[in-house]
Amino acid sequence: MFCSVDNCDSKHYANGYCQRHYQQIKIHGKIITLVKRTPYDPNEFIIDKNICWIILYNARGEEIAKAKIDVKYYDQIKLQYLKIIQDLERVYFKLKRED
Ligand SMILES: [Zn+2]
Repeated sequence: MFCSVDNCDSKHYANGYCQRHYQQIKIHGKIITLVKRTPYDPNEFIIDKNICWIILYNARGEEIAKAKIDVKYYDQIKLQYLKIIQDLERVYFKLKRED
């Protein structure tokens, strides 16, 4: 069973959606991207009241983790996010290897 969003062939997760689209509906109330991600796409920032979620993807465009920051840091982080995302991904993969 697959995600019900057009052009998304990810595995079903919940309510007819894959994990990424399910989270988008849950957090944002709508589907944000219909196009399959590539490793060159920028990371997604989802603003939810005073919280900003940064969605992290692996090289296959699958969501692997979300980082939560206070929305007041968003402008600052947006400028530096590439470095931050890389650091977060390193931490994530380090944690994963240690599982
Ligand atoms: Zn999907």
